[in-house]
Amino acid sequence: MKIASDVYGYKTAIANIALVGGLGKDKQDWVLVDAGIPYSAKFILQYAKSLFGKKKPIAIILTHGHFDHIGALETLLHEWDVPIYAHSEEMSYLTGEEVYPRPTPFVVKGVMSFLSPFYPRDGIQLHSNLKVLQSGEELNFMEGWECIHTPGHTKGHISLYRKEDGLLLAGDAFVTVKQESLFAVLTQKEELHGPPAYFTPNRAESRESIMKLAKLEPSIIYTGHGKPLYGKEQIAKGLYRLIRHYDVGFAESPTIV
Ligand SMILES: [Zn+2]
Ligand SMILES: [Zn+2]
Repeated sequence: MKIASDVYGYKTAIANIALVGGLGKDKQDWVLVDAGIPYSAKFILQYAKSLFGKKKPIAIILTHGHFDHIGALETLLHEWDVPIYAHSEEMSYLTGEEVYPRPTPFVVKGVMSFLSPFYPRDGIQLHSNLKVLQSGEELNFMEGWECIHTPGHTKGHISLYRKEDGLLLAGDAFVTVKQESLFAVLTQKEELHGPPAYFTPNRAESRESIMKLAKLEPSIIYTGHGKPLYGKEQIAKGLYRLIRHYDVGFAESPTIV
């Protein structure tokens, strides 16, 4: 699915990936953003081939290391031996030195949150390909794109922003579908929501990150879950409404699992 000029989106069952083309001197290079759910490598490879032929990406960028964003990574690396960029604060989870905090399924009621303790949360080992992504500046291998540190959902969560057309790839900093509800996940209703609550240990930081992204005044948003949304005014309205109603009270809640 075309999201914007040179940018394509693909949904691996529940989680989105993005393919960003038009890079490099001859505009032929491309970068993969996130790596979908486990067992989705075959479909990702097929889709990439339909867009870029046999050309492999120059890099893979991870918005964060949750299982639904790195699932196909190991298989993809067999095909494409390319650097994997992630924020420095996400590294220890990707190298397996740390595991993500246990999810807190009681914060919201819903089938998905009920199932969350069974979601795998261990990172996979990718040492040799990992590279640190610097936030706050234009990426040297992705001209026109900026990396923004948006912690809260995970410590090293990042979002990518293209100023030229106001395109924001927000990962799970917030999502355009209510991830906690299985019904909404299946019907993919377009709504702006905070990141999946059961997997967002630092709600206060998460709220600040959404504020940071709202200030960019994006015109197009494509998140880790849900459909793309268009329209600067509509997006601003939605994001500020989300910020106003964002409940940060769960930050200190004890976990029950
Ligand atoms: Zn996530
Ligand atoms: Zn996710």
